Amino acid sequence: MRVKGQSYHEVICGPMFSGKTREMQRLYRIFKVCNFKVQVFRRDIDTRYSATEIVTHDGIPFDKEDVFLAKQAEDISKQLQEDAKVIMIDEAMLYNRELVDKIDEWVNNGRIVVTTVLPTDYRGEVFGIASELLAKADFITSLYARCMHNENGIFCHDPATRTMRKVPIKEQVLIGGLESYEPRCRKHHFILKKEKSN
Ligand SMILES: [Zn+2]
Repeated sequence: MRVKGQSYHEVICGPMFSGKTREMQRLYRIFKVCNFKVQVFRRDIDTRYSATEIVTHDGIPFDKEDVFLAKQAEDISKQLQEDAKVIMIDEAMLYNRELVDKIDEWVNNGRIVVTTVLPTDYRGEVFGIASELLAKADFITSLYARCMHNENGIFCHDPATRTMRKVPIKEQVLIGGLESYEPRCRKHHFILKKEKSN
């Protein structure tokens, strides 16, 4: 690789609606201004907004030619370009364990890796490889949302560090926006149980 400069792994961490993808997009623009070759990887399961672009909940896209689909760590390796200085991975906690070692390898070889990580699932349990990614990161940018718990029309609005699922479905991964999830503070984070049908 011909690009010089610092190499590190930065994790952008926070619950849903805390602006993780938006923060990654902000960093992406800075790297682009500096003429760094950037590759952005996403899993192919999130098709809420577009099949070929990563967009935030606000609908801000990355440049199409920089976005690649990758289900697992080896899919990233295969598509990685020799001159890519920056590797960005959205929702990195969903990948297999191999990604943790691969990120070490990429950073040791002079690349910058930026990942977004949802640390806990809707139950408040560690999500996939989140703990290992966070433990091995050089830098962690921790974001929070605002609690949307509503009592008599008044929102809690405390810093929200957790994601609450509004529908009683047990699968760990359920793609959705505000119709399915809400940011909640620790006090107002509940796990909805399916109501018994008679
Ligand atoms: Zn709250």
